[in-house]
Amino acid sequence: MHVAITDKNRLSTVKPDLAKGLDVKLSGVAADQLTVGANRSVWWRCLDFPDTHEPWPAIVNNRTGGFRKRYGTGCPACRLVKTSAQELRLKAELSTVLPINPDRGTLRTTQTEHVDMVAEADGMRLVLEFDGSYYHADEKSRATDHAKSQRLRAAGWTLVRIREDPLTPLDPTYDVVVGFVAEPEEAAADVLDHLARLGLIDAAAAGQYRALGAPQAAERAHAWILERIGAQALRIEYTAHNDAWESMFEALTAYEAQTGHCYPTDDVTVDGRSLGRWCRKQRGRQRTGRLRPEREKRLAAILTWSSHTAFEAGFWSRYRAYLQRAQATDPDERAMNRPGSNGDSIS
Ligand SMILES: [Zn+2]
Repeated sequence: MHVAITDKNRLSTVKPDLAKGLDVKLSGVAADQLTVGANRSVWWRCLDFPDTHEPWPAIVNNRTGGFRKRYGTGCPACRLVKTSAQELRLKAELSTVLPINPDRGTLRTTQTEHVDMVAEADGMRLVLEFDGSYYHADEKSRATDHAKSQRLRAAGWTLVRIREDPLTPLDPTYDVVVGFVAEPEEAAADVLDHLARLGLIDAAAAGQYRALGAPQAAERAHAWILERIGAQALRIEYTAHNDAWESMFEALTAYEAQTGHCYPTDDVTVDGRSLGRWCRKQRGRQRTGRLRPEREKRLAAILTWSSHTAFEAGFWSRYRAYLQRAQATDPDERAMNRPGSNGDSIS
C-alpha cells in the first residue's frame, strides 16, 4: 500500500530527532522519503555514541510507536548499559533493607554461578536475579534461567527472580514482576512487598521503605555505576528517563482528556508503570521544589493539573458526590452523565 508523504506524516518533519539517527547510506533512503508509520526496516545510528556504538536495523513504525516500542528498538549497546545501570540502582535500593553483600557476585552449586545479588544473614540465604525484559525474553534464556534457578535451589538458596514487565514469572511463587524501566525505588518497593508476602522479611520493613517514596541510595548507585560501567552510563540513563517521563506525560494528557481529572488510580498503568503513582511523585516533587521547571510548565498546561494531593483537593469527596448525583437522576440521563457512558460503574 502506498501512503502519500505529507507534512503530517513525513519522518523528518514529525520526528526530527529520530530522523537524525537514520543512516541514509546504509538504508538507501532519506528521512524525508519515509513516513512515520513506514513498515520498512532501515538502519539507525546511535546519536549519543556515534563512534563506539554499531548501527542497527529496525522498522520505522516500531521506532515511532509508544515508549516500549521506541525503547525496545533503540540502540542495543545503550540498552545493555541501561539494563546494567538499572540492576545496580535496584541493588543499591534493596541494600538499604536487605543484608546484600555488594562484592559477592558468584556462588558455588555444582558449578560456579554468576548471580546479581546475594543477601545472607542468620536464617536468610537469598539470591536475587534481575531479568531485564530485552535480554531474557527468548526461549533459550528462559531455559537457561530456569536451569540456573533449579541448581541454586538445590544448593539451599532461596531464589527470587525480579522479572521486568512484560516478562512473566518463571516460578509462580517466588518470582516477582516489576514495571518496564521502572524507577528504582518503585521496583525495590515491589520486590520488598513480595519478599514480605513470602515471609522472608518483616512486612513492616517493606511498608516503611515504600512509605519513603523516594530513592534511598542514589549516591551509592551513582558510585557503583561510575566504577563498574563508566560515565557514559549516566548519560544513557538520563536519555532513557526523559523518554519515560515523556511517555507518562503523554498518557496523563490522554487520561485527562478522557476523564476530566488528573487522579488516576494505581491500577491505571503504562508499560507496567502505575500512572497514579507517577502523578503522586510529580506532585510530591513539585511541592518540594524538586520538579524541573520545564516539567512543571508542561504539567501546568494540563487544565485540571494541580500539585495538591487528591485528598487536599477534595477530589474523592467531590467525585463521590458526583457519582451519587448521577445515580439519583433517571437512567437515561445517568447513562449520558457517567464517565464511560456505558452504565458500568467505574472504580
Ligand atoms: Zn548507543
